[in-house]
Amino acid sequence: MMKDIATPVRTKAILEKYGFSFKKSLGQNFLIEPNVLSRIVDHAEVTDKTGVIEIGPGIGALTEQLARRAKKVVAFEIDQRLLPILKETLDPYPNVKVIHQDVLEANLQEAINENFNDCEEIMVVANLPYYVTTPIIMKLLEEKLPLKGIVVMLQKEVADRIAASPSTKEYGSLSIAVQYYTEAKTVMTVPKTVFVPQPNVDSAIIRLLVRDKPIVEVENEEFFFQIIRAGFAQRRKTILNNLVHFLPNGKESKLKIEETLEHVKIDSRRRGETLSIEEFALLSEALDKGLF
Ligand code: SAM
Repeated sequence: MMKDIATPVRTKAILEKYGFSFKKSLGQNFLIEPNVLSRIVDHAEVTDKTGVIEIGPGIGALTEQLARRAKKVVAFEIDQRLLPILKETLDPYPNVKVIHQDVLEANLQEAINENFNDCEEIMVVANLPYYVTTPIIMKLLEEKLPLKGIVVMLQKEVADRIAASPSTKEYGSLSIAVQYYTEAKTVMTVPKTVFVPQPNVDSAIIRLLVRDKPIVEVENEEFFFQIIRAGFAQRRKTILNNLVHFLPNGKESKLKIEETLEHVKIDSRRRGETLSIEEFALLSEALDKGLF
């Protein structure tokens, strides 16, 4: 078997051969530790029945490890300079397809239909570009793609926010948005030293297992998320004050909001950060029906 791409020596040789210079603006921090990469693939439980979407293959370090275990890998890379490199490094793996595209612009459902017909499950596995972590995760979830799960490396601070519980300082609208669709767990923290160049922040691997249906039932999802954003708009304010100030017609409806909070048995003096997902759902359903 070829030597792994993700060793410091081979990565350096590849980068030098192509005269590649890292673009900070594209979140280019490449992994140079094969053990960390195989742990990512382990946590994703990739098998020969799995179709994998990878975001940002870089020079193919993770792609290679995925290709060895998956049925098929489709990798989206935005940086054209990496395409000739990937062509060479991934040449031994016929089950890999690299697509030159910004993943945020990609039609992922179409890519799934075209590439994964013969796969039993689909996982997203990636070492994400940190400048777009949240938009990428939200796109994957909001498009309601037929995914089994998402296992990604990201900033530890973002992983902590995603997996946070109510009444912690990390808990916020991102925790609820992601936990609404998935069961979220940080599975490993990763030191800066396994990347080249080293990022400024610590990293973590998070596993998101997509729920069969969202954790709570809400009729008006858009309004539910609007209530959550308003609820956290100013963390030190009470839920009542935040709703009054940050819902479009909140000020005129103060009395109604107070009554609704009382009706669903949520103390109007509580802060948004103490409300569970279930309480936000209850509140948004009641407000949606009675008010806005
Ligand atoms: N997978 C490689 C690894 O682990 O060594 C590289 C990971 S690096 C953190 C992020 C990669 O995402 C880079 O290759 C970068 O060019 C690519 N990238 C950045 N923004 C992107 C986007 N919007 N769509 C697709 N790829 C992107």
